[in-house]
Amino acid sequence: WQNGTEMPRWLDKRAGLTPERTAVICGEEKRTFRRLAEEVRKTARRLSGLGVGRGDRVAFLMPNGLHTVTLIHAISWLGAVLVPLNTRLAPREIAWQLEDSGAKVMIVNEAHRSLGEAARKACVEGAPKALSWDELGDQPEQETEGCSRISLDDLHTLMYTSGTTGRPKGVMLTWGNHWWSATASALNLGLDPADKWLAAVPLFHMSGLSILMRSLICGMTAVVHPAFDPARANRAIAEDGVTIASVVGTMLTRMLDELGEEHYPESFRCMLLGGGPAPRPLLERCKRKGVPVFQTYGMTETASQIVTLSPEDSLRKLGSAGKPLFPSELKIVGDNRELAPGEAGEIVVRGPNVTRGYWKREDATRDAIRDGWLYTGDLGYVDEEGFLYVLDRRHDLIISGGENVYPAEVEAVLISHPAVEEAGVTGFSDKDWGQVPVAFVKPKEGQSVAENELLRHCRERLARYKVPVRIHEVEELPKNASNKLLRRRLPELIPGGGQGETGP
Ligand code: ATP
Ligand code: MG
Repeated sequence: WQNGTEMPRWLDKRAGLTPERTAVICGEEKRTFRRLAEEVRKTARRLSGLGVGRGDRVAFLMPNGLHTVTLIHAISWLGAVLVPLNTRLAPREIAWQLEDSGAKVMIVNEAHRSLGEAARKACVEGAPKALSWDELGDQPEQETEGCSRISLDDLHTLMYTSGTTGRPKGVMLTWGNHWWSATASALNLGLDPADKWLAAVPLFHMSGLSILMRSLICGMTAVVHPAFDPARANRAIAEDGVTIASVVGTMLTRMLDELGEEHYPESFRCMLLGGGPAPRPLLERCKRKGVPVFQTYGMTETASQIVTLSPEDSLRKLGSAGKPLFPSELKIVGDNRELAPGEAGEIVVRGPNVTRGYWKREDATRDAIRDGWLYTGDLGYVDEEGFLYVLDRRHDLIISGGENVYPAEVEAVLISHPAVEEAGVTGFSDKDWGQVPVAFVKPKEGQSVAENELLRHCRERLARYKVPVRIHEVEELPKNASNKLLRRRLPELIPGGGQGETGP
């Protein structure tokens, strides 16, 4: 053990400090930190009986719920490493993550039993021992002290990225990464013992898992929803005292639609919006309605948020993702130099919340982390005051006649049209312009959109080179298991792959 990097195990510490505070609420069920700690120790002893110990990877395929919270803490209590699996992945995709992580055990909930079995069967070698949550409950307990002191340098989570740009990569996150992420968030938002943070986002994602970490470290209640339901999320804010909620853009749109003429109570202090582009019309809608929305920017590699707009700047800097949190830094890089304010380039970040690299992927790690800085693959710029504006992913950038077109900007304009539910924009090759933007829109239910009308809508709001040359109406947009738009697969929506198709 080394001074400066070790501390008492978090759950025991928290249960000692504030035993009677509510740790987690799931529907009708509630747990204080004391009771949660008791149940976690039981689960940990059962895992120990299966041979799980420090450093072992334990995968889980579970929906949001109290069991999942208990399991997550139990794995960490033993000093083992969490491998959260996305329940929407296909068996082969799960099999790959099981093999890549070298998971020793996989815990599945009853509803995902057949998915878990199919994934195990798809493993070529080294399929983990699999147990359902109920079967784990029948396991004999084996006495263990677990890992009573933790080192901030130890691996805590192996979390796979969403796979939006290619095959998911296993991000290694240490206790220290989570520690610095949670404390940085608390320094930004301030701590209030009455805080309740809504997790209607999956616990198998960084956005959800980070809420559990903050709950332990800051002694705050996590309100966990089994799945996202806009009416239920609004009720949690209006009636159950939720003060902070983590959302992505589509969730927020549905919550506002459902809210109608109602308003959120004063006690609701933060709608943390991240995970993908924050369309400006959505931010403006929140501003008009007095919804305290704070855009945040982060990724699996940064253990959730790294840049967040603080409460005092939220209206003045609408559209910005804010400034790097207390322990973190950012710069914008292009042509191998740091760019000046206003110049667009790659967003590069560093801080103690940033991963030390990808699991078993030295090449990808070397590509992404250079001189201690993480090259995010995202484009953006900072203004004169240092506020970050995220533009888009570098790979999705469309260069048309030498001008940069950011698909997210065009998509935001398209979805601001009242008949459009979702939009996706990508570049098609063009003999005159190099590339031209082509759009795909999914209309709102029961509606249809005329291409001409949408083009007019775009022309009024976008420079000419950004206006899509074609707008295709489609039933569904291609998404990954994290519900993120897969722009690279948009051309497949056109019969024949759209090859050769360019302008009207
Ligand atoms: P993969 O790395 O496998 O392609 P992914 O990048 O989608 O998947 P995540 O770590 O879940 O996996 O997502 C992080 C990404 O989400 C960021 O790199 C960025 O592209 C996008 N993102 C997050 N916050 C914002 C934001 N405020 N504005 C725009 N984009 C954002
Ligand atoms: Mg990524």
